Amino acid sequence: MLTVEDARAQILAAFEPLPAEVVSVDRAFGRVLAQDVTARVTQPPRDVSAMDGYAVRAADLARAPVTLQIVGEIPAGGDFDRRLPPGAAVRIFTGAPLPDGADTIVIQENAARDGDRVTVEQAEPAGRWVRPAGLDFQAGSVGLAAGRRLSARDVGLAAAMNRPWLSVRRKPRVAVLSTGNEVVLPGEELGPSQIVSSNGYGLSAFVEACGGAPLHLGVAPDTKAGLREVLEGALHADLLLTSGGVSVGEHDLVQAVLRDLGADLGFWKIAMRPGKPLMLADLRGTAVLGLPGNPVSGMVCSTLFVRPAIDRMLGRDAPAEPRLPALAGRDLGDNGPRQDYMRCTLTLDGDGNRIATPFDRQDSSMLSRLAQADGLLVRAPHAPALPAGGAVEVVPFDAGV
Ligand code: AMP
Ligand code: MG
Repeated sequence: MLTVEDARAQILAAFEPLPAEVVSVDRAFGRVLAQDVTARVTQPPRDVSAMDGYAVRAADLARAPVTLQIVGEIPAGGDFDRRLPPGAAVRIFTGAPLPDGADTIVIQENAARDGDRVTVEQAEPAGRWVRPAGLDFQAGSVGLAAGRRLSARDVGLAAAMNRPWLSVRRKPRVAVLSTGNEVVLPGEELGPSQIVSSNGYGLSAFVEACGGAPLHLGVAPDTKAGLREVLEGALHADLLLTSGGVSVGEHDLVQAVLRDLGADLGFWKIAMRPGKPLMLADLRGTAVLGLPGNPVSGMVCSTLFVRPAIDRMLGRDAPAEPRLPALAGRDLGDNGPRQDYMRCTLTLDGDGNRIATPFDRQDSSMLSRLAQADGLLVRAPHAPALPAGGAVEVVPFDAGV
């Protein structure tokens, strides 16, 4: 049996970063940068006021209390065309540029205005309430690095840097195919021994959460002809995910049909639980990952293998299996030869420790437990029994997954 790490290394070797494309900044949320974003402007472009108040010379305040002559007014976006003379002040508003000669802002709460004169009771150091030019960023500086997946905050920064167009990786096209005579789509007529497909929908949503573009192909029957037809239709994808039909049972035809179609094929038993069988194939240039049909196994394999593959296509070098330290929420028995990924909840105890508590029942068909879980508690092969409170590691589920 192959280890999880070895399987992942082989899978990652089958993918390369996709080409870049240019999108407008308002369509860039969730996309992955193909190039660094550098600022085209300096922000703020000049020294500006951080508050509503009066722009003054700090030197004039040294002899406070002092009364200064108000010689003008500058709203945000405005300007003052003269130099501020000594003994004078300019009424100023947040974001407005300081006039030449001024170096300090007296906030309006600390100033008493009477007509065109203002009295200041207290001295202020030079630079008080002034945002110097370039405080936020300088033209030419790198604000966001290539490989970064753009958050809402990042989109705001890119826009502020005056970048209306961004170079991002093309979204990986990921075709998702379910298989099985017993599987029907939600809402379809349901025979007495049939079940409703969860995998196609769960996997498509997973792909989207990872930044890919899912193509849901529906359900193929367990017949060679039916499978062949759908598989050929998936050839334009960057990755085809199949679910089910990859074991060695008589009805597990995915491997056989892929071979008939000329695919280069690797089939592994991975030393992990849930989700032992996994298949990697190259079908005329389209990578195929054959996932187990059990819904939980499929989702766990997606977390461990599909996300890293999509990250690779997106040019991201995110950790493949990010782990958090936690304490076991209950006693754990000794582990067998397979790496165990146990659905668990994550809570904080009174001391702020992260507590990972696996569900009692870990049957790989139980989607309700999967939806309730916050992550996967990892048990290494042959890990000895561990009492509650012992140190463990958890792969947390990302928001949206
Ligand atoms: P298989 O790998 O085809 O033997 O499937 C393993 C188990 O997963 C069987 O109990 C299937 O009924 C179930 N299964 C397969 N595909 C799906 C699907 N799309 N949605 C829900 N369960 C499925
Ligand atoms: Mg099946």
